[in-house]
Amino acid sequence: MVPTLLALSRAFNRRPEYVQALGGHKIEFVVGLPSGYMHAEHPSACHPIKEFFGHPSGKHFASARDFIEHCVSLMGIGGYGLHNCACKLC
Ligand SMILES: [Zn+2]
Repeated sequence: MVPTLLALSRAFNRRPEYVQALGGHKIEFVVGLPSGYMHAEHPSACHPIKEFFGHPSGKHFASARDFIEHCVSLMGIGGYGLHNCACKLC
């Protein structure tokens, strides 16, 4: 599995409220990130930094754990949506 999708799957499945929103089923992201989003690496002074890009604010998520909240809002499951997204950037 693609490491990014594996990290997202783990971040999702670690949140009981998300698993419950899908009827108690853990999921595995298999295709890719939501349309308009990407996971990319860029250089820094010490080491490359991998972040999730695509948030309308122009800011980015530092980890799958941070991005999963926004991702679930995009998925629109269990009452989660962009209107009540609790991610760090919304
Ligand atoms: Zn958000």
